[in-house]
Amino acid sequence: MHRSPLPPLVDSFGRRHENLRISVTDRCNIRCFYCMPAEGLRFLPRSELLTFEEIARVVRALTPLGVRKLRLTGGEPLVRSDLPQLVSMLAATPGIDDLALTTNGLLLAEHAEALRAAGLRRLNVSLDALDEAKFEQIARRRGLQQVLAGIAAAQRAGFDNIRLNAVALAGLTEEEVVPLCDFALAHELDLRFIEFMPLDAEQNWTDADVLTGEQLRLMVEAEFGPLTPRTAPTPSQPATDYWFANGRGRIGFINPVSQPFCDRCDRLRLTAEGQVRNCLFSTREWDARALLRAGADDAALQQLVRDCVAAKAPAHGIGQGGFERPQRAMYQIGG
Ligand code: SAM
Ligand code: SF4
Repeated sequence: MHRSPLPPLVDSFGRRHENLRISVTDRCNIRCFYCMPAEGLRFLPRSELLTFEEIARVVRALTPLGVRKLRLTGGEPLVRSDLPQLVSMLAATPGIDDLALTTNGLLLAEHAEALRAAGLRRLNVSLDALDEAKFEQIARRRGLQQVLAGIAAAQRAGFDNIRLNAVALAGLTEEEVVPLCDFALAHELDLRFIEFMPLDAEQNWTDADVLTGEQLRLMVEAEFGPLTPRTAPTPSQPATDYWFANGRGRIGFINPVSQPFCDRCDRLRLTAEGQVRNCLFSTREWDARALLRAGADDAALQQLVRDCVAAKAPAHGIGQGGFERPQRAMYQIGG
């Protein structure tokens, strides 16, 4: 096991932070309504994005504090050019023992082999609907066939534990639940349903739009029989996982709204322009880019992240009085 030579990143509620989600861009090739606005987007200029070297520098500063798991996200990470180069830099960083990527899959057919060759081992593909019209209604763009081709290409490239992530939307994706299960089982993919969170750019979210994990589980059991609980391989994981009745495949439910898992959160986030966040719903950020560009040493970067961790709230508080949405939407944070 990797030993941290410096005190770990433990917050005031005893949560140890080992997991860093890195957004590499705020751009995207589709416009999911639960994330991006349809119009009026102003993306960050290139000069504001962290360079690959700057991202790698932050990671190298944090591994001695116990950060060992990374996930690349965005925006759509595969629209950032030369992403495999970043993957190989991070995969080679001592102390990093898990490196994953979350993508909408549209550009996966093009990049799967290079990502694999660069050292990526884990891949999540977001797919909410297998019906073309519904896909387009959600993504405000066409692309379902491209995503399916991307998944197939990734499997051919050797990714063997791909996970499908499906945001569940009340009144919209109920009919997609069983087809997504069938598709996941047929293609040996893990499937996870995610509750819709109030992070849509247009701020239209209401709790009535949330199809809860419990509702989804009942829908799945009505079709496939009782699900068997599966012990989480890592206690901090947000999903509650199950086996399908015949043990053929795995399914999980990520229920941040109906069953918050903040008490076991081990995640930090780095936005595309180098702001460190201690929660998706944080209303404060810590500016790592300013330090990087002022020539700060690792100790200063580490102190910035310690300050960020120390300020972490006990829970996101969605649905409670006083809950304040962050100014940023999901694509500007990195999901
Ligand atoms: N573009 C990539 C993708 O879609 O996989 C990576 C970034 S995306 C922001 C990461 C994940 O967040 C996706 O699985 C997406 O479905 C999910 N997501 C986006 N907005 C969400 C919201 N308001 N509530 C719940 N999940 C959301
Ligand atoms: Fe793009 Fe992912 Fe947001 Fe959809 S969820 S708009 S694919 S960043």
